[in-house]
Amino acid sequence: MEDLFDTWGRDPGFDTLAVRAGQRRGSEQEHSDPIYATSSFVFSSAAEAAARFAGEAPGNIYARFTNPTVRTFQDRLAALEGGEACVATASGMAAILSTCLALLRAGDHIVSSRSVFGSTTALFSNYLTRFGIQVSYVPLGDLAAWEAAMGPRTRMLFAETPSNPLGEVVDLQALSRLARSRDALLVVDNCLCTPALQHPLGLGADLVVHSATKYLDGQGRCVGGAVVGDAERVGKEVFGFLRTAGPSMSPFNAWVFLKGLETLPLRMRAHSAAALELARWLEGHGAVERVHYPGLESHPGHHLAAAQQSGFGGIVSFRVRGGREAAWRVIDATRMLSITANLGDTRSTITHPATTTHGRLTPEQRAEQGIDEGLLRVAVGLEDAADIRADLGRGLDQV
Ligand SMILES: *Cc1c(COP(=O)(O)O)cnc(C)c1O
Repeated sequence: MEDLFDTWGRDPGFDTLAVRAGQRRGSEQEHSDPIYATSSFVFSSAAEAAARFAGEAPGNIYARFTNPTVRTFQDRLAALEGGEACVATASGMAAILSTCLALLRAGDHIVSSRSVFGSTTALFSNYLTRFGIQVSYVPLGDLAAWEAAMGPRTRMLFAETPSNPLGEVVDLQALSRLARSRDALLVVDNCLCTPALQHPLGLGADLVVHSATKYLDGQGRCVGGAVVGDAERVGKEVFGFLRTAGPSMSPFNAWVFLKGLETLPLRMRAHSAAALELARWLEGHGAVERVHYPGLESHPGHHLAAAQQSGFGGIVSFRVRGGREAAWRVIDATRMLSITANLGDTRSTITHPATTTHGRLTPEQRAEQGIDEGLLRVAVGLEDAADIRADLGRGLDQV
């Protein structure tokens, strides 16, 4: 079946793509996407089986390689990110691992922003190094530091922008120019913005990786990931690794993520609006020393974020007066906010980064990254803004 947009004669808008891209209606004329819960596919003849295995005829073989529900998710996310190809994976970490193992080899060097997701740092430093891949870390927004860290074997620049939890940003156009001038790939983890708010490929990045677990699902149900980019690197090389090594997405999870993508633009606008409102309220609260949210004029990355993003996202962090004791008291006084490090859910969550997500860093590393003991992070969900304020106010008013 062909895709609606192949013959439509106009370029659909982003919200339309989120709802309809990739759908290929089957002979049952189903309206919503079906779940193809099948691990293998049959061939009409021995000759067809041989042709498919040889790669000479299109079609499914085995669900470690391809599955129609997973393909629809891949095609829809590729359309949203503006990429030629997408490969769906079992988790966000599987997306990052697959990208590295497909595109790097022993002796290669990665330069990564130091404020990336904790498991990404662990994957790079504890595992990839065993296979002869070297890694250096630099402050996200410091372009001179990126350049200085690059050597003759630097093959990949890896950035997560905006960063979690402080919302620091890097100029992706400048970083992609640097990567190109030195023959390295720029890989961007676009988890916090999603394509609803930021298009790294359009700003010059070579690949985008996702934890679909977060905003793409948006309702805290499934773990998944994806890699998006060009047909050669993603469609052939990353896909080749995935079909061999097997960190594939299940069709059920792909279906959940498809449902998530349909409301992604709406949800990201709502998360961003609620987070900005909360950040402004926190800035005016006497118990709060500092608020980190790129949507605030006071944030050092505000102008850059406003230029390269179409919204500022749902993550707000702030430092309360009184250090860890006060921060924990704010957490423990909440009744509605969920005490969990997850983000990208309809439910707002609160966490103390210094003792959870960043707890394994040394005190010096935390200080370097601006993660102090009074810092709290709220991933703003979709509840009434007044209720989120009231729940935080319970603890803040005692500080
Ligand atoms: C959660 C997360 C990941 C890892 O994704 P999983 O789906 O948990 O494997 C990677 N990057 C960022 C920014 C994340 O928040």
